[in-house]
Amino acid sequence: MDLPSPEAEEILKCHLNRRALPLAFDQPLETHYLTRENNRRQKRYLLSGIVAILFYNFFFLGDRIMIPDIFGMAWRLRLFGVTPAIALAMFLVNLRPFQRHTELFALALMLITSLGIIYLLTQSHHPNAAHYYTGIIIIAIFGNIVARIRLKTAMISSGMILLVYCLSLAHMPAMGPESGPNSALVLFASLTISLFGTYQLETEARRDFLREMLQTLHTHKLKEANEELTRMSRTDGLTGVINRQHFDRIYARQWRISCRNGEWLGFLFIDIDHFKLYNDHYGHQKGDATLKQVATVISKSVGRAGDTTARYGGEEFVVLLPQTELENAHFIAQRIASGIESLHIEHTASPTAPYITLSIGVASTIPTVNQWPESLIKKADDALYQAKEKGRDLILCSEDMPLRLHGRV
Ligand code: GH3
Ligand code: MG
Ligand code: MG
Repeated sequence: MDLPSPEAEEILKCHLNRRALPLAFDQPLETHYLTRENNRRQKRYLLSGIVAILFYNFFFLGDRIMIPDIFGMAWRLRLFGVTPAIALAMFLVNLRPFQRHTELFALALMLITSLGIIYLLTQSHHPNAAHYYTGIIIIAIFGNIVARIRLKTAMISSGMILLVYCLSLAHMPAMGPESGPNSALVLFASLTISLFGTYQLETEARRDFLREMLQTLHTHKLKEANEELTRMSRTDGLTGVINRQHFDRIYARQWRISCRNGEWLGFLFIDIDHFKLYNDHYGHQKGDATLKQVATVISKSVGRAGDTTARYGGEEFVVLLPQTELENAHFIAQRIASGIESLHIEHTASPTAPYITLSIGVASTIPTVNQWPESLIKKADDALYQAKEKGRDLILCSEDMPLRLHGRV
């Protein structure tokens, strides 16, 4: 399952709504679960192993009371047999090649520890040994519920332990004809109860996993929605270029950067000529389409990182050009005007030309702390105003540079 995908949410919700969870999800959800679960299990097993060694050896005190006749054999078995086996398993499961077989180690440990007790039961003749089997119950509770081995492992180990126990009953000298079957019954009940616990813990872990996945999915969707909102709040809905509000922020920031670096900051103020007439003649729909076309041409004409195209007002666009002197800014203005001219968008109602034309005011400055940031915009706006005054379809620079006409003169 590819997360996050629309189907993923459906699958997760469908599983969560089930009363009884399956003990294996469909692939690839199951692989996701096992990967996450294995990491946790690895840590849990390590901690459980340490606790198991301590408790297991602590019970030699019980051996002294329950099986005093074979006490020596019991502590040797605990200390030199089972303890090194647990320690070795703990060491091996932390090695990469063995990590895939963690459950096999868990199964082996459950069997070794329990079979150790069964073996001692077959050796002791002391009457107290009849209660010694309770040690297996502790092992089952510890393995199935505390170490929380997988249900499948728990079922196999519990079944095998019970089977071996029943088969060995006849060879346990301390077990009478009544206490023997009774102990098997108690063991059966305890193992079943602990297995039920394992089942509940596993289904709860699976439910937690599904909830976590759903949460991740929702967080991701929320993040996407937020990003979309941010994008929408920054762009102009019609043309797709940056809107006025966001441009103001970019402009203020760029002004400070250019001021600090002592670099040129170029600015173009672009206005479509006779656009009201265009709307009146061709209708607003067509006007909108043309606005989009103009915005695209402008955006494509300014390609350097940091260059910003924005819709400033109705049919007015601005371009911010960091590190750009007046001459280069003028060159870019020409590129934009030529781009529009080459489209030859018909405008028969225009007194200037039979196609859409632009008037552009160009300005550039090296910002200083004594200048108002708006002064650059004002310069470009004044140049644009003059371009309109002088007949439109014109690119006009704010200072020094000679007046340059574009297209039809
Ligand atoms: P000039 O050459 O002096 O710039 O004349 P103009 O008609 O282009 O300028 P004016 O300011 O008189 O009119 C601007 C027109 O732009 C008016 C309005 O109908 C049109 N306009 C503004 N925003 C939009 C828009 O979003 N869509 C469309 N279709 N037209 C718009
Ligand atoms: Mg205008
Ligand atoms: Mg106009």
